[in-house]
Amino acid sequence: MQVGLLSSVDLNQADVYIPRIPLIVVPLENFCRMKVGTAMKLHSLSASDRTAACDLCQATSFRLVGTKDRRGDELETVICETCGLVSHQRIPTDSELNEYYAAEYRQDYHGEYMPSPHRVVRAWEGANWLYDHLAHYLPPASKVFEIGAGIGCTVKRFELGGFQSEGIEPGVGFSEFARNQLYAQVRPDWLFDLNLNSPQDLILLVHVIEHFQSPRHALETIHQFLKPDGLLYVECPNVAGPHAAPGKQFHFAHIYNFAPHTLEMLAQSCGYTIEQRIPVDGELTLRYLFRRSDTSNLQLQPQFAQTTLDGMFRYNTLSYHLRPAYWGKRMLRDIRFARQRLTARTQLQQILQQCRQAKSTLRHAA
Ligand SMILES: [Zn+2]
Repeated sequence: MQVGLLSSVDLNQADVYIPRIPLIVVPLENFCRMKVGTAMKLHSLSASDRTAACDLCQATSFRLVGTKDRRGDELETVICETCGLVSHQRIPTDSELNEYYAAEYRQDYHGEYMPSPHRVVRAWEGANWLYDHLAHYLPPASKVFEIGAGIGCTVKRFELGGFQSEGIEPGVGFSEFARNQLYAQVRPDWLFDLNLNSPQDLILLVHVIEHFQSPRHALETIHQFLKPDGLLYVECPNVAGPHAAPGKQFHFAHIYNFAPHTLEMLAQSCGYTIEQRIPVDGELTLRYLFRRSDTSNLQLQPQFAQTTLDGMFRYNTLSYHLRPAYWGKRMLRDIRFARQRLTARTQLQQILQQCRQAKSTLRHAA
């Protein structure tokens, strides 16, 4: 493991870097009443009693930054004082997560067991975007694998582009749709049960990394599935964006909430280098292309936690909604979604027809 130029942590050793941060406890309700534009300071948050070590830096010092999820249900969220990684106070167990994702997640998160036409059309547009931005990195007939493939549009889009494309999706309804309607190579399986018989050129994690019990374990596992110079694409909400209005940022399924520096640090400490960061949507979403590397390193700086907080609490509810950029984007998004809903059934039929033709061509070629 390489040692960073600044403060560093070797995860194989016990010497963990601890920043000198004053601990002045102020009740959480006080910062909820803060005035517009008031910067959030790390020392003004309530203490946390979390005991599990931080998944990124292994430190054990946390502060409470939220007590409710986006629906107003109880959900305690903390920030690691050392690296700024935001996560649930209590990390769900494996069995809790397996049960949730197999049976409830798509219904709970998307309100659907099987995808509606407009959801498929939207996912197809997202798949086209990914293909346009990533395909040129790959030699012809490369192996592409998506973890958390959802409806299967991205897996299918890469297949239609001439790549060997597969994926796994634990949600039963969505993976059935992928196989039966799109004829995509998507099976209901879990990353940690995966047994791939050949290394991959590109692995995709699209809005998935925030759902793992241990993102570090996930990235280290994926490292073994990639070719020596293989690529990993990661996309997730940017908690420092902010990606949602104050009070609407946290969700039970999002065990971790990444900012740019925490996602970069995690990837670099798991044996990846940054190939490209793709800036889109005014930084609401993180989109990174990483490349597998033989070295790993973790560089920590004392201001990381404050950097995350500055992004998270840049706005209160009023100032968040009064931003001209918010209304502009929301209006464009609503117009796009309304158009999609009106034409979704027709577009879905075109997508399904394209998938049927590809299957028929493949059968004749065989
Ligand atoms: Zn940490």
